[in-house]
Amino acid sequence: MTDTAALRAQRGLLFAVDETATHDGPGLRMSVYLKGCPLRCVWCHSPESIAPKPEVAWYEALCRKCGACATACPEKLAPWFEQMPEHRARCRQCGGCIEACPGDALELKGYETTAGEVADAAERLRPFFARSGGGITLTGGEPTLQPDFAVAIAALCRGRGVHVAVETCGCTGWERLDRLADATDLFLYDLKDADPARHRRNTGAELAPITDNLRRLITRGADVIVRVPLIPGCHDSPADVAAIATLARDCGARRLTLLPFNPAASGKYSWLRRPYPLPEARPQSAEALRRLEGIVADAGLEVVSP
Ligand code: SF4
Ligand code: SF4
Repeated sequence: MTDTAALRAQRGLLFAVDETATHDGPGLRMSVYLKGCPLRCVWCHSPESIAPKPEVAWYEALCRKCGACATACPEKLAPWFEQMPEHRARCRQCGGCIEACPGDALELKGYETTAGEVADAAERLRPFFARSGGGITLTGGEPTLQPDFAVAIAALCRGRGVHVAVETCGCTGWERLDRLADATDLFLYDLKDADPARHRRNTGAELAPITDNLRRLITRGADVIVRVPLIPGCHDSPADVAAIATLARDCGARRLTLLPFNPAASGKYSWLRRPYPLPEARPQSAEALRRLEGIVADAGLEVVSP
């Protein structure tokens, strides 16, 4: 098998592809969402990305409450409109309930594909990428949780002249980022807080390994834009943003994007029958965002629009 054939054959798990993304790097992007994430952010806006396996999503508005899903379930789970999050551990993703549902209220989130298929889809969009300065973005979830798959997609796309961006939370082994950097044009690197204790509490992960990886990536010569999700009442005060910008700068970053809070995630929690953790949170106003961007600029960083 040639190297290219081996790369094409790499298999991995996605939960979505968006061929018209505009906020995941420069120009028009094909955003490829890899399933599985090592963090447990309390504000997660993609809860369907977390589990490294397929999951059934339930759409309340389409559910007729007929109970056909329960009748079809080999695990004898309750109908989806009554299911609790703890039932999920017993679901074996057999798809029986999806087949049985008369209302299209159920869908399997997560499917296997090959790096070759992803790269072929990106190649078809090359004229649009060329016109807009865009390309492919590997995001998730956390792309480095599927290192061989992510490297294969990036290498195949790079080989065809497609610009490759990778969005990472940085909570991964250095050798995985190092490998991926060989085939990546731009990293969108999440930095979620500058306070180590609060970072641990809100994401379940230590901050230090993430900033170590950021430093190493920049020292290695990678092009990096740091991205900071602004969570209302959590770390979106002027003092918090100043501390995050200073930390990013001290790691060697020169560009930073502030991401205003996105309340659209609440519906996804309903798909997975989980309570939404931030029902009161609202996006920052345009004026507040401008002020916070001024603080980032004062720290000596270039502000990049989301
Ligand atoms: S996917 Fe299978 S095991 Fe899971 S709830 Fe549906 S029928 Fe039951
Ligand atoms: S089979 Fe479909 S429509 Fe009927 S209760 Fe289950 S999810 Fe709802």
